[in-house]
Amino acid sequence: MAKMISVDEAQAILIKEAGRGERAEIELSEAHAHYLAEDARADRDFPPFDRAMVDGFALRTKDIAQVPADLAVIEDVPAGRAPQQAVGPGQATRIMTGAPVPQGADAVVMIEHTKPGGARVTVERSLEAEANIARRGSDRRQGATVIAAGMRIGPAETGVLASVGYAKVPVFRKPHIAILGSGDELVEPGAQPKPWQIRNSNSYQLLAQAASHGLSAEYLGVAPDEAQRTRRMVEEGLACDVLITTGGVSVGDKDFIGAAFADLGVEILFDKIAVKPGKPTAFGRRGGTLVFGLPGNPVAALTCFHLFVMTAVRARMGAAEPLPARWRVPLKGSRRAAGDRPTFVPARLEASETGLHAVPNEWHGSGDLCATVQAAGFVRQGAWQALADGDAVDFFPLTGA
Ligand code: AMP
Ligand code: MG
Repeated sequence: MAKMISVDEAQAILIKEAGRGERAEIELSEAHAHYLAEDARADRDFPPFDRAMVDGFALRTKDIAQVPADLAVIEDVPAGRAPQQAVGPGQATRIMTGAPVPQGADAVVMIEHTKPGGARVTVERSLEAEANIARRGSDRRQGATVIAAGMRIGPAETGVLASVGYAKVPVFRKPHIAILGSGDELVEPGAQPKPWQIRNSNSYQLLAQAASHGLSAEYLGVAPDEAQRTRRMVEEGLACDVLITTGGVSVGDKDFIGAAFADLGVEILFDKIAVKPGKPTAFGRRGGTLVFGLPGNPVAALTCFHLFVMTAVRARMGAAEPLPARWRVPLKGSRRAAGDRPTFVPARLEASETGLHAVPNEWHGSGDLCATVQAAGFVRQGAWQALADGDAVDFFPLTGA
């Protein structure tokens, strides 16, 4: 296993191998950040009745062709009540926003354009027919698809699902993720490192990325550069749906992670991607468990979770579009050609009067984690490609669903 594959090839393998989480009907209040497993349909017309869009008086526009017009108020209909009487010539029904418009009426005049006087009302403005009425079924018809299978459920979709009666939502369950660090040089953030030690940042960065996608993840600790302990910790991680390790997979390194994978029967599907940072990214499976050996370099771990782990996770959750979001935006600044692999450069987004621009952060390579602070995503720079100010580039938003 030495062949270097492209980012596209790696993502295609991930989508193919990801499998599906368990199909389940979950509570609506838990549905956020899942993907719908089947089309959600309107269970009734939307709106379900001719709905008043303002507070005012339902009337016949014929009666207010000449204004001011004096009408008899026959009824009062708040939201949540059904009108009992049809509106006839010379009549009006006092009505509130969200209430059903009575038969006979063809418009609702805003209260601000009237002078109410108990049993009568003076209308001071004429109206076109249909004004301020949302007709039954004018938004969606009963049976229409309101959210297609494979779409992500965010706050708006949760509201739509509630409105069409999905107290339970069909989804594929989210994977449970295990995160394992590796390397004798690592200490935890609260510890004082010796001069030759560094703090473990990858594990916390990955936990935060998982959380930002609404995923549950657990931290297994740091495996030392020692075969038996590493093997035991990898084995523990293999009980989860997705195991992500960082470090210890570079060729020629003390490759304890790779050895543990082999020992524990992980089938490796690739272990090298033509990408910068992130070349020594490995992916394999054991049964239904997806296994990622991400590079130890912190920027590589950040980038590869976004480009590769999330692609597989979304595919597993039934996303219609598992690939990371990609926007075409103009570049601000320029960049010299960066080598023989496509490079994902941490970048900010700047909004100005001339529009949105991607602005690469100053960045010293895959160990320079501080260069990712306030990055909104990555600009893709092709192999041997120089970028000039104003060039259209692919921007991969870090927060993109
Ligand atoms: P490795 O892949 O183990 O050779 O590690 C590559 C580089 O990433 C080395 O400089 C490591 O010290 C660093 N590294 C590995 N794991 C972590 C981690 N969890 N947090 C921060 N840096 C790490
Ligand atoms: Mg290491």
